[in-house]
Amino acid sequence: MNEYDAIVIGTGSGMIIAERLLRENPDARIAVIDKDMAGGICLTRGCIPSKLVISPVEVLYDLEKLSDVIHAEVKGVDFRKIMKRMRKKIDSESRMIERSLIEFERIDYFKSPARFVSPYTLEVDGKSIRSEKIFIGSGSRPMVPEIDGLTESGYLTSDTILYLEDMPESMVIIGGGYIAIEYGNFFARAGCDVKIVEMLPRILSGEEPEISMAVHQELSEHAEIYTSHRVVKVESDGGIKRVHAESRDGRRIFEGEEILVAVGRESNSDILMPENAGIETDERGWIEVDEFLETSLRGVYAIGDANGKHMFRHVANREAIVAYMNAFHNAGIRMDYSAIPHAVFCQPEVASVGMKEEEAVRKHGKENILIGFEEMKSTGKGQGLNLSGFAKIIVHRESGKILGAHIVGKAASILIQEVTTVMSLNAPYHSILQAIHIHPALGEVVSWACGNLMRVDEYHKMIERVFQLSSQA
Ligand SMILES: Cc1cc2nc3c(=O)[nH]c(=O)nc-3n(C[C@H](O)[C@H](O)[C@H](O)COP(=O)(O)OP(=O)(O)OC[C@H]3O[C@@H](n4cnc5c(N)ncnc54)[C@H](O)[C@@H]3O)c2cc1C
Repeated sequence: MNEYDAIVIGTGSGMIIAERLLRENPDARIAVIDKDMAGGICLTRGCIPSKLVISPVEVLYDLEKLSDVIHAEVKGVDFRKIMKRMRKKIDSESRMIERSLIEFERIDYFKSPARFVSPYTLEVDGKSIRSEKIFIGSGSRPMVPEIDGLTESGYLTSDTILYLEDMPESMVIIGGGYIAIEYGNFFARAGCDVKIVEMLPRILSGEEPEISMAVHQELSEHAEIYTSHRVVKVESDGGIKRVHAESRDGRRIFEGEEILVAVGRESNSDILMPENAGIETDERGWIEVDEFLETSLRGVYAIGDANGKHMFRHVANREAIVAYMNAFHNAGIRMDYSAIPHAVFCQPEVASVGMKEEEAVRKHGKENILIGFEEMKSTGKGQGLNLSGFAKIIVHRESGKILGAHIVGKAASILIQEVTTVMSLNAPYHSILQAIHIHPALGEVVSWACGNLMRVDEYHKMIERVFQLSSQA
């Protein structure tokens, strides 16, 4: 049996732990395990490859917005080149990580599936390995629902889509969450005939309703979007796949050359078998942790997607540091999820941090909430670029603390950062108003929203008018 100072499962955020430990204790012996390409999901199947693929169409969106003043002719999107560029970058970075894992003499790197066999002991590559400090960063994988005929007909997931050589002429996307919308937006704008079929009443159902609506409005100019449609059956006939979906109005059939299934993520616990070590999971297999990220087995921590909390790489990175500090320095740091930002990289872009309105009202009462609002087109830069979108800031009336912020429109993922910083510092919204913002930059949309607070009911009347006007435009 090989004994280690630490065992790290997953080469994504888990690598932060291995690096930190070796920096502080160069004599430490660490086992690092990953059954897939080194670098984890973010580098090899998630954030990075998806953004390398989808980002170029943002330029098309900008041109579309400015079509009355810039008469550009786009000859096409070179899908093959985009995919080749993506694969080259990912392969080289993953190989670099793999080489460093192999060459580092204090690390034993196992490129195989591991499973717990008893508390503190795992089996990998036919060997038993043991440590009193284990970090589970086993990530997640695409969830594939049981749909009649789906397997036989063939489908893509966010993993396998990365192997496409040529752009399909048409695609049916099952799901309307952020992965479905990011890829749907890309393919639709790049010239593929896209149909998005979502079971819930709206796409991006994790976002504020008005944000979903803003994306729906603009994306539906390029893709067909069907909400409240449940896929019940898939058939394939030669090169064409047929997706049968049911709604209140009956059954519809959507045809496409490819089907992308993007309905969520599931746990890898069935491979890791934490139950053999007495490590508790919830009913979906996500590993249960306390606020210090420790599992039910002392000294064993679960970080990133594995704990099923906020499945983003930036969260996993922070959790890795918190788990490391708690495990090796007894730091007693509680993981704080109150100001976790995220973005959806479609056009218009979406970004959000903290509470949604419904949660804020539920927790604090409607009378204690104020909502700030401003449109992108109010700023000089927004007018110059003919931008749509807005910022919504939710504030606690008495304390002035920002409870949440939601932005849709160009550069939303950048604009949200100012609010995130203020929230992380636990500072009130006045601090944004106090800071001088560059005029007439897009950043003004955040400060003006903070200066334009209103009661919840007033906000709803106003947002209705905004949508009526934009649908008439
Ligand atoms: C298409 C897509 C786009 C995304 N875009 C973004 C984005 O823009 N921004 C963002 O923040 N997040 C994004 N994410 C999410 C992000 O990729 C994940 O949250 C992050 O990579 C999780 O990191 P991790 O450290 O938990 O797991 P990782 O270390 O990245 O992955 C876990 C690794 O462990 C391996 N493993 C699992 N079980 C075992 C086992 N028993 N034995 C051996 N190895 C095992 C897995 O195969 C995997 O390689 C995206 C995800 C997808 C799929």
